[in-house]
Amino acid sequence: MSHEEKVLDYIEAHSDEIVAFMQKLIRTRSVTGDEAEMGRLMAQECERDGLDVEVVEPAENRTSVIARYKGSTGKPRVMVYSHMDTVPAGDPESWTYPAFSATIADGILWGRGTADNKVATCATTMAFRAIRSLGIGLKGDIIFTHVADEENGGKFGFRNILDSGYAEGVDYLFYGHGGRKEQIGIAANGSASVVITVKGRAAHTRALEDGINAVEKAAELIVWLKKLGDEVNKREYPLPGTDTIMKSRFSVNKCDGYVSTNTVPDKCEIIIDRRTTPGESMEDAETEIRRVIELMAAEDPDLDAEVSFNTRMDVSVSPADSELVKSFQRAAEKIVGIKPVPVGGSHSSDHGYFVTKHGKPVASYGTGGVGTHMANEHIAVEDIILTTKVYALTMLDLLGAE
Ligand SMILES: [Zn+2]
Repeated sequence: MSHEEKVLDYIEAHSDEIVAFMQKLIRTRSVTGDEAEMGRLMAQECERDGLDVEVVEPAENRTSVIARYKGSTGKPRVMVYSHMDTVPAGDPESWTYPAFSATIADGILWGRGTADNKVATCATTMAFRAIRSLGIGLKGDIIFTHVADEENGGKFGFRNILDSGYAEGVDYLFYGHGGRKEQIGIAANGSASVVITVKGRAAHTRALEDGINAVEKAAELIVWLKKLGDEVNKREYPLPGTDTIMKSRFSVNKCDGYVSTNTVPDKCEIIIDRRTTPGESMEDAETEIRRVIELMAAEDPDLDAEVSFNTRMDVSVSPADSELVKSFQRAAEKIVGIKPVPVGGSHSSDHGYFVTKHGKPVASYGTGGVGTHMANEHIAVEDIILTTKVYALTMLDLLGAE
């Protein structure tokens, strides 16, 4: 029997154990900001597989796990990623089954984090466990990273790990994530949150002539900004090697300046969510917003607006024909029966920072999961097993079994 056949048999024979592990991960809450318990659990699981485990905690309860496997040649060196944090469950009333119950009904596993992203935490772990339990050696090195804080930008998770140098010498970032079986993610928009503080002068409403109404100034400014936004939202970037057209995004998502019913407000805060494609730079995105403010200020000397441009996620773009993409494709063809195509999404992710820092290919793949960030998030039990199988074959293919 080939290594591949043995590994697939092993996963099939251990399906119940894999699904039970997935349920345990869902029941172990890890809403962004409190990843400690999940981190402890994953550290134990990685130790059980004989990995060299390090736990990092850049702030209280912000736990990430790094677990290394040393291959016989060390080539290639692959970072295998999953994020452990989830968004909150939201209103309990809107869930059919309680969000952290991990209920299985009619072949579907329900719960917060099933799709985003505990299927990847489960499948990366169980895929490797299958390989190791069978005594199969790999040539390449693996650095597993089960991280905190993805949903909030990664400062206390993946960014911290990259800044600490854990990805030095890494050839590929194997980005474990729930997803669609026909697609491999190779690109993501950059994202910035642009905070504009419009300042006015407070006054009692009865003497409003003494004040400068910051909310009204902000409203005018938003009309100016909307013109830029309409132009930005038409921009498209055809992603090389794929059929994907990536889109630039610009949306004014907050305007807040209330003081009290009888006070002319002296401050109003505007927040723009700006998503850049690989065809734009963050610097240009910032400059064009500042220019709009200058133009309005030239017509209205009372406009006093301060901009703070905060990059949340770097733009991420990787080749459509990397060895990692090819390994995912070969594995998926065998397991799922279709050859997934490389695509770019409009979502942003913490892998952008890896691309900026190391310039090595990233690819993200998963065979299922529905309802990310919504109530009733779920995944077919079958997809948990399929993802595990695809990840195992990808590891064998990319890292070289012996
Ligand atoms: Zn995610």
